[in-house]
Amino acid sequence: MSDPDMLALVVRGPKEHALERIPMPVPAPGEALVAVTHVAVCGTDLRLLRGTLHDADYPVIPGHEWTGRVLEAPDRPELVGKTVVGDGITPCRQCERCAEGGYNLCQDLDEVGFTRPGAFAEAFTIPAANLQLLPDTLSGAEGCLLEPLCVALHAVERAPDVSGRSVGVIGAGTIGLLVGQLALAAGAQSVTVAEPEERRRRLATELGLDQVSSLAELGKALPEIVFDATGVASVFPDGLEATRPGGAYVLVGYSGEEPTHFEPSAVMLREVTVYGVLSGYGQLDKALDMVVNGTVRLMPLLDEELPMSDYRSVLEDRGGDAPLRTVFTTGAGQTV
Ligand SMILES: [Zn+2]
Ligand SMILES: [Zn+2]
Repeated sequence: MSDPDMLALVVRGPKEHALERIPMPVPAPGEALVAVTHVAVCGTDLRLLRGTLHDADYPVIPGHEWTGRVLEAPDRPELVGKTVVGDGITPCRQCERCAEGGYNLCQDLDEVGFTRPGAFAEAFTIPAANLQLLPDTLSGAEGCLLEPLCVALHAVERAPDVSGRSVGVIGAGTIGLLVGQLALAAGAQSVTVAEPEERRRRLATELGLDQVSSLAELGKALPEIVFDATGVASVFPDGLEATRPGGAYVLVGYSGEEPTHFEPSAVMLREVTVYGVLSGYGQLDKALDMVVNGTVRLMPLLDEELPMSDYRSVLEDRGGDAPLRTVFTTGAGQTV
C-alpha cells in the first residue's frame, strides 16, 4: 500500500493491450479498494482483447471474474483484510428497466471490467455493498467461477421449468457445464451435452451429464429445452433445428457481433420459443449456497493457475487442450 502504483492489464483498443503500471485507484464514497488475488479470463474478455465484443468501450481494464482481499472499505470496515467476491454489476435503479425490476437490462448499468476498471490488476474499486465474504471452504480460483455460475443460474431461471423434461446443452465450456449441473439438480429427466472435444466430454461425464460429440447427434434426441452455451453465432440455426418442436432455445454467454443466416420460419414452423440471457445480476447468494452445499462442483472446471504476466497465453489457439477458464494470480493481496 505504500506504493501508489500497480500493475494492470490495460486494453487501449482492439488487439492493443499490455500490462502497464498505473496509479492505484482511490475508492469513491461508498466504494471499497480490493487487492485482487485471482482473476479469470472468459470468452467475453477474449472478445474485448481481440476487438470483437459488442459495445466495447476502450480504454478498459478487463476482469469481472475475480477473488480479492479488501484493503479499504470505510463503509464496511469489518471487511478489511477479508477474502471477498462480489457482484460486478450495479444497476442505476433510476431507469425504466430498473423500475420494472429488469436490473440486467438497466439502461445505465455500471459493470466492473466493462464500464468501470476491472479486476485484471493488482487492485480495483467496487461499491462496498456489492461485496460478499468468500466462504473458507472455497478456493480463490473457485471464487472466480461464481460470476459465470450466476449467469448459468439466470439462464435456468429464464428457461421454462426443466423438471421432468429432456434438456440439451450445446458446448461443454464453463457456462455449458454449469448450466448442465443446474438442470440436473433442478430435476431434468436427462441432460445431454453436445461437444466435439473429447476432453470436455469426459468432464461432462464426470459431472453426471450425458454427452454426444455433435449437434447432429443431439438433434436425433430432440431435447425439449436446449441451452446454447457455445458463444458462436453460426450454431444458432442448427441449434434451433435440434430443438423439439414446441420447445425452448436459450441463448447464453454470447457477446459477439458476428451475423448468421437463419430463416425465421425455423422458429415459426416449429413454434420454438427463443430466450436471451444477459448476465446474472442478483444471483450471488444463491450461487454461493449451491457451491457450499455441493449442488454444483467448480473444482473439475479449473485448470492450472498462471501469473498475470502470462496473460497472453489465453490468446493462443490450443484447440482441445485449451483450459475451460484460465485463472491468473496477481501476487497482490498476499502481503495484506
Ligand atoms: Zn465472463
Ligand atoms: Zn437502470
